Amino acid sequence: MNDIMNLFSLNGKNAVVTGANTGLGQGICVALAAAGAHVFGVARRSCDETAAKIAAEGGQFTEVRADLSDFAAIDSILEQVHAHADRIDILVNNAGIIKRCDAIDVTPENWDAVDFLNEKMVFFLSQAVAKQWVADKKGGKIINIASMLSFQGGIRVPAYTSSKSAVMGMTKALAREIGSRGITVNCVAPGFIDTDMTRVLSDEQKDHLQAQIPLGRLGSVDDIAQSCLFLASDAGAYITGVTLHVNGGMYMG
Ligand code: NAP
Repeated sequence: MNDIMNLFSLNGKNAVVTGANTGLGQGICVALAAAGAHVFGVARRSCDETAAKIAAEGGQFTEVRADLSDFAAIDSILEQVHAHADRIDILVNNAGIIKRCDAIDVTPENWDAVDFLNEKMVFFLSQAVAKQWVADKKGGKIINIASMLSFQGGIRVPAYTSSKSAVMGMTKALAREIGSRGITVNCVAPGFIDTDMTRVLSDEQKDHLQAQIPLGRLGSVDDIAQSCLFLASDAGAYITGVTLHVNGGMYMG
Protein backbone atom coordinates (compact mmCIF):
# COMPACT_ATOMS: atom_id res chain seq x y z
CA MET A 1 0.00 0.00 0.00
CA ASN A 2 1.10 3.56 -0.68
CA ASP A 3 2.60 5.47 2.18
CA ILE A 4 -0.51 6.40 4.18
CA MET A 5 0.25 10.13 4.32
CA ASN A 6 0.91 10.26 0.58
CA LEU A 7 -2.55 8.87 -0.01
CA PHE A 8 -4.03 12.10 1.30
CA SER A 9 -1.44 14.41 -0.24
CA LEU A 10 -2.63 16.95 -2.81
CA ASN A 11 0.86 18.25 -3.56
CA GLY A 12 1.03 19.68 -7.07
CA LYS A 13 -2.78 19.75 -7.47
CA ASN A 14 -4.90 22.79 -8.25
CA ALA A 15 -8.28 22.87 -6.54
CA VAL A 16 -11.19 25.23 -7.26
CA VAL A 17 -13.63 25.68 -4.37
CA THR A 18 -16.77 27.84 -4.67
CA GLY A 19 -18.15 29.82 -1.74
CA ALA A 20 -14.62 30.17 -0.37
CA ASN A 21 -15.09 33.25 1.81
CA THR A 22 -16.94 31.62 4.71
CA GLY A 23 -18.49 28.54 6.29
CA LEU A 24 -17.92 25.13 4.78
CA GLY A 25 -16.21 26.53 1.70
CA GLN A 26 -13.59 28.25 3.82
CA GLY A 27 -12.99 25.04 5.80
CA ILE A 28 -12.69 23.00 2.60
CA CYS A 29 -10.15 25.50 1.21
CA VAL A 30 -8.09 25.29 4.40
CA ALA A 31 -8.14 21.46 4.41
CA LEU A 32 -7.18 21.08 0.73
CA ALA A 33 -4.41 23.66 1.08
CA ALA A 34 -3.10 21.91 4.21
CA ALA A 35 -2.86 18.74 2.11
CA GLY A 36 -0.68 20.62 -0.41
CA ALA A 37 -3.11 21.86 -3.07
CA HIS A 38 -2.96 25.32 -4.59
CA VAL A 39 -6.50 26.40 -3.79
CA PHE A 40 -8.45 28.83 -5.99
CA GLY A 41 -11.26 30.17 -3.86
CA VAL A 42 -14.29 31.45 -5.77
CA ALA A 43 -16.37 34.13 -4.04
CA ARG A 44 -18.31 37.27 -4.82
CA ARG A 45 -16.61 39.12 -1.93
CA SER A 46 -13.24 39.22 -0.21
CA CYS A 47 -11.64 35.94 0.86
CA ASP A 48 -9.11 37.68 3.12
CA GLU A 49 -10.03 35.55 6.14
CA THR A 50 -9.62 32.31 4.16
CA ALA A 51 -6.36 33.57 2.64
CA ALA A 52 -5.00 34.47 6.09
CA LYS A 53 -5.86 31.06 7.55
CA ILE A 54 -4.10 29.30 4.68
CA ALA A 55 -1.10 31.63 4.72
CA ALA A 56 -0.69 30.98 8.47
CA GLU A 57 -0.12 27.31 7.63
CA GLY A 58 2.14 28.03 4.67
CA GLY A 59 -0.40 26.98 2.06
CA GLN A 60 -1.17 28.38 -1.38
CA PHE A 61 -4.38 30.31 -2.04
CA THR A 62 -5.58 32.54 -4.87
CA GLU A 63 -8.85 34.44 -4.70
CA VAL A 64 -11.15 34.24 -7.72
CA ARG A 65 -13.90 36.85 -7.77
CA ALA A 66 -17.16 35.73 -9.37
CA ASP A 67 -20.86 36.04 -8.72
CA LEU A 68 -22.39 32.65 -9.39
CA SER A 69 -25.83 34.09 -9.97
CA ASP A 70 -24.56 35.12 -13.41
CA PHE A 71 -23.77 32.53 -16.08
CA ALA A 72 -20.80 34.63 -17.23
CA ALA A 73 -19.08 33.61 -13.99
CA ILE A 74 -18.05 30.29 -15.56
CA ASP A 75 -15.74 31.76 -18.22
CA SER A 76 -14.48 34.33 -15.75
CA ILE A 77 -13.54 31.64 -13.20
CA LEU A 78 -11.67 29.58 -15.79
CA GLU A 79 -9.85 32.66 -17.08
CA GLN A 80 -8.82 33.77 -13.58
CA VAL A 81 -7.61 30.30 -12.61
CA HIS A 82 -5.70 29.74 -15.84
CA ALA A 83 -3.83 33.01 -15.32
CA HIS A 84 -2.02 31.11 -12.53
CA ALA A 85 -2.41 27.40 -13.25
CA ASP A 86 -2.15 25.11 -16.29
CA ARG A 87 -5.00 22.91 -15.22
CA ILE A 88 -7.62 22.31 -12.58
CA ASP A 89 -7.39 18.94 -10.82
CA ILE A 90 -10.21 19.22 -8.29
CA LEU A 91 -13.50 21.13 -8.34
CA VAL A 92 -15.60 21.51 -5.19
CA ASN A 93 -19.06 22.94 -5.87
CA ASN A 94 -19.83 24.25 -2.41
CA ALA A 95 -21.57 27.62 -2.84
CA GLY A 96 -25.27 27.42 -2.11
CA ILE A 97 -28.24 29.39 -0.87
CA ILE A 98 -31.31 28.57 1.13
CA LYS A 99 -34.52 30.62 1.13
CA ARG A 100 -36.93 29.67 3.90
CA CYS A 101 -40.57 29.99 2.98
CA ASP A 102 -43.75 27.94 3.48
CA ALA A 103 -44.21 25.65 0.48
CA ILE A 104 -47.60 27.17 -0.27
CA ASP A 105 -46.07 30.66 -0.52
CA VAL A 106 -42.97 29.94 -2.63
CA THR A 107 -42.78 32.15 -5.72
CA PRO A 108 -41.21 31.26 -9.07
CA GLU A 109 -38.57 33.94 -8.36
CA ASN A 110 -37.63 32.31 -5.06
CA TRP A 111 -37.51 28.91 -6.75
CA ASP A 112 -35.42 30.10 -9.72
CA ALA A 113 -32.82 31.89 -7.57
CA VAL A 114 -32.17 28.80 -5.48
CA ASP A 115 -32.33 26.45 -8.42
CA PHE A 116 -29.94 28.54 -10.52
CA LEU A 117 -27.15 28.71 -7.96
CA ASN A 118 -27.56 25.32 -6.25
CA GLU A 119 -28.25 23.25 -9.32
CA LYS A 120 -27.73 24.84 -12.73
CA MET A 121 -24.40 26.48 -11.93
CA VAL A 122 -23.13 23.31 -10.28
CA PHE A 123 -23.82 21.39 -13.46
CA PHE A 124 -22.48 23.93 -15.94
CA LEU A 125 -19.32 24.77 -13.98
CA SER A 126 -18.69 21.02 -13.70
CA GLN A 127 -19.33 20.66 -17.42
CA ALA A 128 -16.86 23.45 -18.28
CA VAL A 129 -14.12 21.92 -16.14
CA ALA A 130 -14.87 18.36 -17.28
CA LYS A 131 -14.58 19.51 -20.90
CA GLN A 132 -10.97 20.45 -20.20
CA TRP A 133 -10.36 17.11 -18.51
CA VAL A 134 -11.82 15.14 -21.41
CA ALA A 135 -9.60 17.13 -23.80
CA ASP A 136 -6.34 16.73 -21.86
CA LYS A 137 -7.14 13.09 -20.89
CA LYS A 138 -5.75 13.58 -17.39
CA GLY A 139 -8.98 13.23 -15.45
CA GLY A 140 -10.03 15.01 -12.30
CA LYS A 141 -12.28 14.99 -9.28
CA ILE A 142 -15.56 16.79 -8.72
CA ILE A 143 -17.08 17.03 -5.26
CA ASN A 144 -20.55 18.50 -4.88
CA ILE A 145 -22.04 19.61 -1.60
CA ALA A 146 -25.51 18.12 -1.35
CA SER A 147 -27.44 17.93 1.93
CA MET A 148 -29.12 15.53 4.30
CA LEU A 149 -32.27 17.18 2.92
CA SER A 150 -31.42 15.60 -0.46
CA PHE A 151 -32.82 12.45 1.15
CA GLN A 152 -35.14 13.62 3.87
CA GLY A 153 -37.10 16.53 2.52
CA GLY A 154 -36.96 19.76 4.45
CA ILE A 155 -39.63 21.92 6.04
CA ARG A 156 -40.06 25.45 4.59
CA VAL A 157 -37.24 24.88 2.07
CA PRO A 158 -38.85 23.19 -0.96
CA ALA A 159 -36.63 24.80 -3.60
CA TYR A 160 -33.50 24.06 -1.57
CA THR A 161 -34.51 20.45 -0.99
CA SER A 162 -35.31 19.99 -4.65
CA SER A 163 -32.01 21.55 -5.76
CA LYS A 164 -29.99 19.39 -3.38
CA SER A 165 -31.75 16.23 -4.60
CA ALA A 166 -30.94 17.32 -8.14
CA VAL A 167 -27.27 17.72 -7.21
CA MET A 168 -27.25 14.11 -6.07
CA GLY A 169 -28.88 12.99 -9.31
CA MET A 170 -26.53 14.95 -11.56
CA THR A 171 -23.58 13.56 -9.58
CA LYS A 172 -24.63 10.02 -10.50
CA ALA A 173 -25.35 10.97 -14.11
CA LEU A 174 -21.95 12.62 -14.59
CA ALA A 175 -20.12 9.89 -12.68
CA ARG A 176 -21.61 7.23 -14.94
CA GLU A 177 -21.11 9.11 -18.19
CA ILE A 178 -17.57 10.42 -17.76
CA GLY A 179 -16.05 7.93 -15.33
CA SER A 180 -14.21 6.24 -18.21
CA ARG A 181 -12.29 9.50 -18.72
CA GLY A 182 -10.64 9.21 -15.30
CA ILE A 183 -13.12 11.59 -13.69
CA THR A 184 -14.75 10.89 -10.36
CA VAL A 185 -17.87 12.77 -9.27
CA ASN A 186 -19.14 12.51 -5.72
CA CYS A 187 -21.25 14.36 -3.17
CA VAL A 188 -20.81 15.11 0.46
CA ALA A 189 -24.19 15.48 2.18
CA PRO A 190 -23.81 17.43 5.41
CA GLY A 191 -26.33 17.13 8.20
CA PHE A 192 -26.70 20.16 10.46
CA ILE A 193 -23.37 21.96 10.56
CA ASP A 194 -22.54 25.00 12.64
CA THR A 195 -22.23 27.75 9.98
CA ASP A 196 -24.06 31.00 9.06
CA MET A 197 -26.68 28.87 7.31
CA THR A 198 -27.71 27.21 10.59
CA ARG A 199 -26.97 30.11 12.96
CA VAL A 200 -30.46 31.44 12.26
CA LEU A 201 -31.91 28.44 14.13
CA SER A 202 -33.03 29.16 17.71
CA ASP A 203 -31.40 27.42 20.69
CA GLU A 204 -34.62 25.47 21.10
CA GLN A 205 -34.47 24.28 17.47
CA LYS A 206 -30.80 23.33 17.88
CA ASP A 207 -31.50 21.37 21.09
CA HIS A 208 -34.31 19.56 19.31
CA LEU A 209 -32.00 18.68 16.40
CA GLN A 210 -29.14 17.65 18.65
CA ALA A 211 -31.39 15.18 20.46
CA GLN A 212 -31.90 13.39 17.12
CA ILE A 213 -28.17 13.09 16.31
CA PRO A 214 -26.65 9.82 17.58
CA LEU A 215 -23.21 11.45 17.89
CA GLY A 216 -24.85 14.10 20.07
CA ARG A 217 -23.63 17.30 18.45
CA LEU A 218 -24.04 19.49 15.38
CA GLY A 219 -21.29 18.90 12.82
CA SER A 220 -18.26 21.17 12.49
CA VAL A 221 -16.80 22.73 9.38
CA ASP A 222 -13.80 20.41 9.80
CA ASP A 223 -16.06 17.34 9.71
CA ILE A 224 -17.15 18.32 6.20
CA ALA A 225 -13.76 19.58 5.03
CA GLN A 226 -12.06 16.29 5.97
CA SER A 227 -14.66 14.30 4.03
CA CYS A 228 -13.98 16.44 0.96
CA LEU A 229 -10.25 15.92 1.38
CA PHE A 230 -10.81 12.16 1.43
CA LEU A 231 -12.79 12.25 -1.83
CA ALA A 232 -10.32 14.67 -3.44
CA SER A 233 -7.31 12.53 -2.60
CA ASP A 234 -6.00 9.20 -3.89
CA ALA A 235 -7.50 7.61 -0.78
CA GLY A 236 -10.89 7.99 -2.50
CA ALA A 237 -9.67 7.00 -5.97
CA TYR A 238 -12.16 4.16 -6.55
CA ILE A 239 -15.21 6.00 -5.26
CA THR A 240 -17.56 7.66 -7.74
CA GLY A 241 -21.25 8.49 -7.96
CA VAL A 242 -21.52 8.30 -4.20
CA THR A 243 -23.22 10.66 -1.78
CA LEU A 244 -21.40 10.46 1.51
CA HIS A 245 -23.54 11.13 4.59
CA VAL A 246 -21.70 13.34 7.06
CA ASN A 247 -24.41 13.93 9.63
CA GLY A 248 -23.45 12.31 12.93
CA GLY A 249 -25.84 9.45 12.18
CA MET A 250 -28.95 11.66 12.03
CA TYR A 251 -29.90 10.06 8.72
CA MET A 252 -28.50 6.68 7.67
CA GLY A 253 -30.54 5.77 4.57
P1 NAP B 1 -22.90 29.82 4.12
O1 NAP B 1 -22.02 30.10 5.29
O2 NAP B 1 -24.17 30.57 3.93
O3 NAP B 1 -22.02 29.85 2.79
C1 NAP B 1 -22.58 29.81 1.50
C2 NAP B 1 -21.52 30.24 0.52
O4 NAP B 1 -22.10 30.33 -0.79
C3 NAP B 1 -20.95 31.62 0.86
O5 NAP B 1 -19.59 31.66 0.56
C4 NAP B 1 -21.74 32.51 -0.11
O6 NAP B 1 -21.15 33.74 -0.39
C5 NAP B 1 -21.75 31.60 -1.33
N1 NAP B 1 -22.67 32.15 -2.30
C6 NAP B 1 -24.00 32.35 -2.19
N2 NAP B 1 -24.48 32.98 -3.27
C7 NAP B 1 -23.40 33.20 -4.10
C8 NAP B 1 -23.24 33.80 -5.35
N3 NAP B 1 -24.27 34.33 -6.05
N4 NAP B 1 -22.01 33.85 -5.90
C9 NAP B 1 -20.95 33.34 -5.24
N5 NAP B 1 -21.03 32.75 -4.03
C10 NAP B 1 -22.26 32.68 -3.47
O7 NAP B 1 -23.37 28.31 4.18
P2 NAP B 1 -22.57 26.96 4.44
O8 NAP B 1 -23.25 26.28 5.54
O9 NAP B 1 -21.10 27.17 4.48
O10 NAP B 1 -22.99 26.19 3.09
C11 NAP B 1 -22.07 25.70 2.14
C12 NAP B 1 -22.74 24.59 1.35
O11 NAP B 1 -23.10 23.53 2.23
C13 NAP B 1 -24.05 25.03 0.67
O12 NAP B 1 -24.15 24.40 -0.60
C14 NAP B 1 -25.11 24.48 1.61
O13 NAP B 1 -26.32 24.26 0.95
C15 NAP B 1 -24.46 23.20 2.06
N6 NAP B 1 -25.00 22.65 3.30
C16 NAP B 1 -24.84 23.30 4.50
C17 NAP B 1 -25.36 22.73 5.65
C18 NAP B 1 -25.21 23.37 7.01
O14 NAP B 1 -25.76 22.83 7.98
N7 NAP B 1 -24.48 24.46 7.17
C19 NAP B 1 -26.05 21.52 5.58
C20 NAP B 1 -26.19 20.90 4.35
C21 NAP B 1 -25.66 21.47 3.21
P3 NAP B 1 -21.66 35.09 0.34
O15 NAP B 1 -21.00 35.08 1.71
O16 NAP B 1 -21.18 36.17 -0.56
O17 NAP B 1 -23.15 35.01 0.42
